[in-house]
Amino acid sequence: MPGLEDLYREIILDHYRSPRNRGELPPPANKAEGHNPLCGDEITVFVQVDGDVVSDVKVSGQGCSISQSSASMMSQAIKGKSLDEVRALVHRFKVMMSIEEDADDATQPAVKLGDLEALQGVVKFPVRIKCATLAWNTLVEALES
Ligand code: ZN
Repeated sequence: MPGLEDLYREIILDHYRSPRNRGELPPPANKAEGHNPLCGDEITVFVQVDGDVVSDVKVSGQGCSISQSSASMMSQAIKGKSLDEVRALVHRFKVMMSIEEDADDATQPAVKLGDLEALQGVVKFPVRIKCATLAWNTLVEALES
């Protein structure tokens, strides 16, 4: 029987080989570009916000399997979510990556990491954490732009 690590590796490779929500969105969609010079990862995030909801998201770029699969999983996880839910998800992901303290705030909407849990092994490799978080930092920039 395959172990959890094999399952996680499969999920990461699946998102790397078949990235979800690949492409671009025309203005007025928000856009931000992120770059991880340590690894050469490049990600551009396009988000369409209607009212309080991320109604559409597209991602383009290139780089290692961790950076690109994280971007794919992120796009899948935030599409159709409210801005509050997206912020909560960004926080949960950064807690998993050990770069934010768990706020343990009962007022935050409950969010599920889903496929993103496959990236939790990355936390053992500090250099790769920047790969995994690139899409998320770029997303936050795009939402603020
Ligand atoms: Zn990388």
